[in-house]
Amino acid sequence: MKVLLCGGGNAIHVLTAYAGSLPDCEVCILSLFPGEADRLRSSLGEKGVKCVNDLGPDVYGMPTMVSDDPAKVAVGADVVILAIPSFTHEMYLRALKDYLKPGVTLGAMPGEGGFDLCARHILGDEVVTHQVNLFALETLPWACRIVDYGKSVEVLGTKKEIDVVITPRQGRSVEDVLELLQKIVGRLPKLVPACNFLAVTLMNINSVWHPTISYSFYKSHDYTKPFDAPPLFYQGADEYTGEKLAKVSDEVLQVKKVLLEKYPSLDLSSLHHVKEWMLRSYGDDIGDKSSIYTMLVTNKGYRGLTHPMKEVKTEEGKTKYVPNFNYRYFTEDIPCGLVVTRGIAELAGVPTPHMDDVIMWCQQVMGKEFLVDGKLCGKDLGITRSPQVYGCKDLDTFMKANHYVEG
Ligand code: NAD
Repeated sequence: MKVLLCGGGNAIHVLTAYAGSLPDCEVCILSLFPGEADRLRSSLGEKGVKCVNDLGPDVYGMPTMVSDDPAKVAVGADVVILAIPSFTHEMYLRALKDYLKPGVTLGAMPGEGGFDLCARHILGDEVVTHQVNLFALETLPWACRIVDYGKSVEVLGTKKEIDVVITPRQGRSVEDVLELLQKIVGRLPKLVPACNFLAVTLMNINSVWHPTISYSFYKSHDYTKPFDAPPLFYQGADEYTGEKLAKVSDEVLQVKKVLLEKYPSLDLSSLHHVKEWMLRSYGDDIGDKSSIYTMLVTNKGYRGLTHPMKEVKTEEGKTKYVPNFNYRYFTEDIPCGLVVTRGIAELAGVPTPHMDDVIMWCQQVMGKEFLVDGKLCGKDLGITRSPQVYGCKDLDTFMKANHYVEG
């Protein structure tokens, strides 16, 4: 089996070790980031990439080729995995388009929102429907960090169970594809099939968590002045944060309700409130399960994580910290996350005042414009994966063009 890994960061290091350790697996890497393929190739350890992990002994895997040229690495790939920030998915899909073989299993870890919309747009509806087993994981299976570039990576925590959405090409079963993906990621997390891409897009936890927690925190902290230390992200949450998260999640569930009323045969059973997601994902790692706020501050998995910050030096030479609004909590979780959900809400006619508060603040600190006067019509909408970008101007077109309902 030939596995093509796309990217070159933390997740690709883990996947190189895991997939490369399988006896029947040949791993190649495609990196389109300028200079990265050469750098990675020349940095590889003697036994490839070592993955130190929380589940057992270290795992080693060596890629057979690392390149920036899809013609060299993509031809004949049985599995293609994009484990890269979601704003680069489109670039990779465009580069891969002419080299994918029929029957390829292709997807993203994680998918974020609207991965299927992007894939259909770039590869074409016919190809996605008849030739590709398209998949997306709701989140990355691991919290992981490169220790020594090209040589070793550490999995700080492996999730227990995560959703994966799979739309196999005609004639292939979800179970076959699931088994293949489980083999690559390892024993854990257990991959659980989600009902469809729409449910995974709307369940995108990062798109609710990261922007809403950031918004809530900075609402009561002056971020124009540098901080002495990076503030805690989850443990720094307060009751307001918990309530705002609940309200944003309520709005998503209102979209679910409207969609189910209009399309009674639609399955959105894997779309839950963020509170349920938290309990299922972290279980007994949570000390106090009484509210979203208490769950955020007592979740072992969230301990010590800080708001993304950049270091700055004061005139006296002291190190201080300012917010990094160019981090994935914004650059991915807004255009490929909350804005996608907001776009679906707009088509469904569901008012989203709480989501709008969060998007309006985020777009302002990002220097972007997506939402204007309550409509997704800002000048930067084109960088998002909202349905409106792909020409879906009404709910029925959106639901049918993307095969969420028959039509
Ligand atoms: P990363 O930041 O290590 O990935 C960086 C890689 O992405 C680069 O090496 C490059 O290959 C590619 N890239 C970034 N910007 C690019 C650009 N402008 N053009 C071309 N390529 C570019 O990411 P990661 O930590 O490996 O995470 C992969 C995905 O998983 C991301 O979506 C991330 O949000 C998500 N995620 C990661 C973690 C984690 O613990 N690492 C946890 C949860 C989710």
